[in-house]
Amino acid sequence: MNIIMYSKALYSTWMYYSPDRMLIDCGEGASTYLGNKSFAVQRVFLTHGHADHIAGLWGLVNTRNNAMGDKEKSLEIYYPKGSKSVEEFLDFILKVNSDLKYALIIKSLDVGEEVILHRTGGVKRVIRPFRTHHTVNEISFGYNIYERRKRLKERYRNLSQNEILDLVKKYGREEITVDYEQKILTISGDSTPIAVKDAYETDLLIHESTFLNGDDRKGNNHSSIREVLALAKEAKVKSVILYHISTRYERNIKRYVNKAIEEIGVDFPVMYVHPSKIFTMK
Ligand SMILES: [Zn+2]
Ligand SMILES: [Zn+2]
Repeated sequence: MNIIMYSKALYSTWMYYSPDRMLIDCGEGASTYLGNKSFAVQRVFLTHGHADHIAGLWGLVNTRNNAMGDKEKSLEIYYPKGSKSVEEFLDFILKVNSDLKYALIIKSLDVGEEVILHRTGGVKRVIRPFRTHHTVNEISFGYNIYERRKRLKERYRNLSQNEILDLVKKYGREEITVDYEQKILTISGDSTPIAVKDAYETDLLIHESTFLNGDDRKGNNHSSIREVLALAKEAKVKSVILYHISTRYERNIKRYVNKAIEEIGVDFPVMYVHPSKIFTMK
């Protein structure tokens, strides 16, 4: 896991996931902070078309065209199919950058589709969008990264190491293992709490938590911390990062988070992205 992330509700949100050289969302300041790492980005996946999640695209596209770095490397941008605001903004970016030195590949994504992120040796990682509930006028996605792995077939699981080795010799590894998919990362984008099935047993749930105090919420476009932790508990996730936190809680985040942890009774690690700090995770 290797994450660099910035998220301040209403202002800017982006997350760089280095194992797959991708950005989830590209709010203002993404390329400013990433600097030369901007050239490492191969793909950008957008959750929805609100300015605080896409405003940094122009800078990213432009930086890669002009700064010192590999200007030949292509960049892929994926967005929720039907998002008019994303399409309009990308049209504008293409118009004002007609002399791009690299291939800018723009693709819409729909639920049910997947993009292969990584395939070497036995490891294969894919990303798939799922629908979320945010604002009525804007189609919004969350994303799941899955890793395809192999494990022993059920009937062989109680065998000793030597017995397994014998079976491998006799029948080959393929014969005694089955493929399965592990969700290694789930990110909500802006949303009310995502469906339990979309986060189920994920290694890391990164969920928006705009409201640390549920009483502050007006409308039903965002999540509160208690809802997120209750969802995470029900979905049996292994760890949580809260993001998209409103600046109104800036001075008391730890207190709110600890209170919610106690009330919901969680036994997995809960981290949070402070709205005025860069968050990193090795
Ligand atoms: Zn937002
Ligand atoms: Zn939004």
